[in-house]
Amino acid sequence: MPATPVHATLVWFRLDLRLSDHPALHQAARRGPVIPVYIDEDASGSGRNGNEWAPGAASRWWLHHSLASLDADLRARGVRLILRRGDPLAVLRDLIRETGAEAVHWSRRYEPALDLRDRKIAQALRGDGVEVEAFASALLFEPESIRTQTGGPYQVFTPYWRACLAASEPLPPLPELERIQAPEAWPDSLDLRALDLLPHIAWAGGLAETWRPGSQGARALLGDRLDAGLNAGLRAYASDRDTPAAEGTSRQSPHLHFGEIGVREIWAAVQGRLDAGDGDAAGRASLLAYQRQLGWREFAHHLLVHFPRTPVEPLRSGFAAFPWRRDAAGLCAWQRGRTGYPYVDAGMRQLWATGWMHNRVRMAAASFLVKHLLIPWQDGARWFWDTLVDADLAQNTLGWQWVAGCGADAAPYFRIFNPVTQGERFDPEGAYIRRWVPELARLQGKWIHRPWEAPASALNAAGLVLGGDYPLPVVDHALARARALAAYQTFRD
Ligand code: FAD
Repeated sequence: MPATPVHATLVWFRLDLRLSDHPALHQAARRGPVIPVYIDEDASGSGRNGNEWAPGAASRWWLHHSLASLDADLRARGVRLILRRGDPLAVLRDLIRETGAEAVHWSRRYEPALDLRDRKIAQALRGDGVEVEAFASALLFEPESIRTQTGGPYQVFTPYWRACLAASEPLPPLPELERIQAPEAWPDSLDLRALDLLPHIAWAGGLAETWRPGSQGARALLGDRLDAGLNAGLRAYASDRDTPAAEGTSRQSPHLHFGEIGVREIWAAVQGRLDAGDGDAAGRASLLAYQRQLGWREFAHHLLVHFPRTPVEPLRSGFAAFPWRRDAAGLCAWQRGRTGYPYVDAGMRQLWATGWMHNRVRMAAASFLVKHLLIPWQDGARWFWDTLVDADLAQNTLGWQWVAGCGADAAPYFRIFNPVTQGERFDPEGAYIRRWVPELARLQGKWIHRPWEAPASALNAAGLVLGGDYPLPVVDHALARARALAAYQTFRD
């Protein structure tokens, strides 16, 4: 009797570019041969032109390297990544026809438009007689599973996180597969370079120096941060996380965004340390603080799913009438890190150079745009979307709406960050500023956060010409504060 042919399963990779804790891949591998696929949607109607949240330039740089890394990991297990371009449904149908695959697996996406699109694809493929399964693996808690007592979504973080922690434990991560069965024949694949993800002009050198995209980079980083001595790495997270000059945070955000490491893997590794009882009280408090920060990522996705218009509209709808200003020159100065406020400029330059900015500085820089310059938060969110390697629709939206005062659990609008005192508090020696704004490097500590107040002798000693090498403030803090409060008042009235 001839053996029944074993049909392959297509695993459609998106923001889950890893082999570990990957339920869609695990389930497919249990069924038989696996054909891993990545579809670049940019060339299609639903891609760059149709999808307003197609990956920005920094994300595309990351994606290129992450796909290369995923392909290498797959090849080490006996399979490879098939790259295609176009409308996902058409591409999946082509692949099913070419390979005889009978099932398609993917990991769930939470962006509202993509979630809807995926449901339509699933329905169409099921109509063709194909088995389709979407697996949840990007979060610790599914957004729909956490509800207030009246059954609605949460809008305040602390009770949300309390409800998460009272719910069942996050699932333990699945182990990495050692071997994956290949199909009898491979369909054609594009070359990675044909996806044209890398920038055409050479601006990404700083990104390459800073990051190691891919699962191995993510794991190495986590190990580094967890295994560092007692008072370093994540064990000192509670005390160091607010110091932009220190390597005090995990730097996992782009790895988490691209799904190169599963959040359940990180959670389990941290929980393992806590359960083992190693470290002192401060170290344990740090690990708990770190877990709580992962909770903000969960909260961001909870909000995006329940309030799908928030990437473009304020959650608190009254803010739609806020009297924002159009200020092209101000926006440009902010983007280029030339506002004249060193702490803000250092952040914006760190962002441009490395595709990442410290969370403390993100808050101050974002606040400067929306409150000092009165520029709509959506303009800032767009710039971050294009320049961050961790640009994430859920987290970026939460961050900007929080800063602008129009989102969930937001800072009240009238609380206006002072860019000088923020710098003096979180970068007291000016080390962060000296690193990212080199023209100020020789300025005495006393003036580093307020160079416009420095006497000529201090400027001369630092070799600095204000208004030349480094700009004078684009707006006076006291005037900007008064203007923002007045705008808030008229809008409230
Ligand atoms: P750690 O402090 O080590 O935290 C661990 C993880 O927890 C992070 O990787 C991240 O996934 C999550 N996390 C930490 N802080 C937050 C937070 N405040 N909100 C949501 N999740 C958090 N984060 C993004 O990943 N993508 C974005 O596009 C993004 N845009 C932001 C925009 C603004 C205006 C602001 C104020 C914050 C934004 N954040 C964003 C949140 C935060 O700044 C980054 O997650 C953090 O700086 C990443 O560094 P890390 O991995 O070292 O963080």
